[in-house]
Amino acid sequence: MLQLDSHPSGRHFLHIPGPSPVPDRILRAISYPTIDHRGPEFGALGMRVLDGVRDVFQTRGDVVIYPGSGTGAWEAALVNTHSAGDTVLMYETGHFASLWRQLAQRLGLEVETVTAPGGDSWRSGIDADAIAGHLRRDSARRIRSVCVVHNETSTGTTSDIAAVRRAIDATGHPALLLVDTISGLGSADYRHDEWGVDVSISGSQKGLMLPPGLGFNAISARAMAASRDAGLPRAYWAWDEIVAANRNGYWPTTPATNLLYGLAEACDMLRGEGLPQVFARHQQLARACRAAVAAWGLEVQCQDPSAQSPVLTGVVLPPGIDADAVRALILERFNLSLGTGLGKLKGRMFRIGHLGDCNALSLMAALTGCEMGLRAAGVKLAASGVVAAMETLQGV
Ligand SMILES: *Cc1c(COP(=O)(O)O)cnc(C)c1O
Repeated sequence: MLQLDSHPSGRHFLHIPGPSPVPDRILRAISYPTIDHRGPEFGALGMRVLDGVRDVFQTRGDVVIYPGSGTGAWEAALVNTHSAGDTVLMYETGHFASLWRQLAQRLGLEVETVTAPGGDSWRSGIDADAIAGHLRRDSARRIRSVCVVHNETSTGTTSDIAAVRRAIDATGHPALLLVDTISGLGSADYRHDEWGVDVSISGSQKGLMLPPGLGFNAISARAMAASRDAGLPRAYWAWDEIVAANRNGYWPTTPATNLLYGLAEACDMLRGEGLPQVFARHQQLARACRAAVAAWGLEVQCQDPSAQSPVLTGVVLPPGIDADAVRALILERFNLSLGTGLGKLKGRMFRIGHLGDCNALSLMAALTGCEMGLRAAGVKLAASGVVAAMETLQGV
């Protein structure tokens, strides 16, 4: 085991699906001296990061950046657009969707939950027709918003958000569309404006390659208008004061200056590579990862091929094998961190993150660690997943 006074040789392989590895370029930017957040230099930084984040969300509308985690940004999205007793329709894709539901309930909202009709909601993407069905039955128009998770980090499932918007529109229901893309943004294709999302929610420590500490809301004109009539109490999370101060690149309270240095760098990196190339890279890494799992003879948690995530892959272990014991062995022997099974998947699966600053060789290293660890734990593997992943990456 790691001793406090010892340092393991080589690097640590952080392959959990967030926080993701922070590139050196971003770490260096974060280490610059903190400046006066009301001084003349700061406004330029503020304008630069707001502009950069808009590009990443693919929106021209308002974006709010909070010092806070993704959970704070969930709360912000709800308190700015709802009144006490409002009903929200939430689709259960997995553990994170369930946590967001609990947060809504704590805020005093009525939650109606949608699950996959006749299937396991934790193994497939969102069924947009099931959402439309609920909305059609809501003739009293009590449902104020539809809340969905774009990339469900507990299972490795990415849903078709444009299809959810089309399904809502087809019913003529006025519900707002709120989307958690905390782990999707910056790795999986995401288009706030084109897909007609009202509030998009994200965080810094996943596809944006930053340390934890920032939360984001991208806000449609409709959501901004709805916030003027929404009655839930809010102070720190209130959009109006922040958006007003942001017009000149400032914040009403002290922003996370050093994380904003890192954010400016992250936006430049994503722009430099080009978002289409970033998304294609993650799709290719995900295909290679799934090829490895298939070669091992193991199952991927998401069983719908069209919804399998470019961000992470959930690997289901055979019955009788404790996935957390395998993870612990891999960490101890190879200094590789994998994501634990969450909620009802605890002990049943582990998650391989291939989001953010990941390339072919970092994925290969993670898969090699997994393969050696699985064998060491006595899991019978059908074939080498490492070879299968290499062949996928080489286009064989
Ligand atoms: C990480 C994550 C969250 C929670 O974000 P925190 O920054 O941990 O508060 C919520 N939803 C999804 C999909 C996530 O991946």
